Amino acid sequence: MADRSGIPPGSTPMPAAKGPPTPPPAPQAIKIGHVVEVARELALDHGLVEPTEQERAEMERDAAQAEERRAERAAKRDAAREQLAGIIEEPARTILDLHAENDFGECTGCDFAGSEGEPPDWPCATVITIARHYGIDIPEGT
Ligand SMILES: [Zn+2]
Repeated sequence: MADRSGIPPGSTPMPAAKGPPTPPPAPQAIKIGHVVEVARELALDHGLVEPTEQERAEMERDAAQAEERRAERAAKRDAAREQLAGIIEEPARTILDLHAENDFGECTGCDFAGSEGEPPDWPCATVITIARHYGIDIPEGT
């Protein structure tokens, strides 16, 4: 009959340890070969794959269109700034002067709270409201 105790013949078993029982070891992370599928668009966005000629052309076209939209938006905003500057009626003039744009494209008049609070982007809701009142088309956001 085979000895199934796991103790080699002729050796003496270890005495039981004294003190509190030791906790079982923490489970070890097991690395298993794993393939994560990523959408090609995401891989392209993060530079994980080289774009094909067609993809490169699309990316350049998209970038050119985005730049065109940005330029149109900037021109529209510049036009709105000029129109807003022409408003002399009170109290709109005083309110617009308070909610002026600083060098960082933020409103100087809006209150903001919190240690990490940031001033809102210009045009803020107040400036947009006045612009709409005067029929001025002003792009919102940055
Ligand atoms: Zn404001």
